[in-house]
Amino acid sequence: MRKPFMKRRAMLALALVLLGVGMMLSGLAQAQPAGNSKRILIVTGEDYPGHKWRQTTPVLKSLYGPDPRFHVEVVQDLSKLPSLNLQAYDAVVMHFKNYDPNVPGRKGFDNLARFVKQGGGLVLVHFACGAFQEFKDDFTQLAGRAWNPKLRGHDPHGEFTVNITDRKHPITAGLEDFAITDELYTCLDGKVPIKVLAGAISKVDGKVYPMAFVLNYGKGRVFHCVLGHDVKALSNAGAGRLFRRGTAWTARLTPVARPEK
Ligand SMILES: [Zn+2]
Repeated sequence: MRKPFMKRRAMLALALVLLGVGMMLSGLAQAQPAGNSKRILIVTGEDYPGHKWRQTTPVLKSLYGPDPRFHVEVVQDLSKLPSLNLQAYDAVVMHFKNYDPNVPGRKGFDNLARFVKQGGGLVLVHFACGAFQEFKDDFTQLAGRAWNPKLRGHDPHGEFTVNITDRKHPITAGLEDFAITDELYTCLDGKVPIKVLAGAISKVDGKVYPMAFVLNYGKGRVFHCVLGHDVKALSNAGAGRLFRRGTAWTARLTPVARPEK
């Protein structure tokens, strides 16, 4: 009886080793996207209470689905930003507005800014323009424009038209104007040179406000779009295209996957 028992134990050990190797390989497959795909990291975890980030984050993530070149991961803890190895990614998507000046804090901001300065991509979604108020001047350099709480926040939530104002830029080439039910932000402030790609006319004061723009920061590219107040706004096809193409551009991809679905 002793021998078969040993045999069974040996078989069990072999099975466990194989299982372990299999898990390691599947783990590697998860961590490392295949071929030319780009690793995108959505950073979220805190926002204005009216911004339901737990609901909007999966929608934001799903926007990248139609483009198979994206491999998207999500971090929902802002306290991790200072120690994240951002160099492992091609672009970071800011989907947060922090209220605690210490979280992500100076080290968190510096980690992000260094990543972009060295050539990483950065995307800002909606109220991400209000993040890092504690380092506002530095943040404005990175974001191009930042929320100024002294300015009027936005038009009353409702439908408006997003006008594509730059039809030559690779992000917006071939895109049409589109209607969206969202907040038309009127609160951006800053003098950093930016290239506006899309704007909207306020129903309140008749002025044109930037809805999407790009800038360079060091060697990196930044796409900043203030659309996306809620699930409905982020589900808008036009907004989705902008975020997908804008993110691709920051990650040094041709903005449109062929064929775009
Ligand atoms: Zn909002």
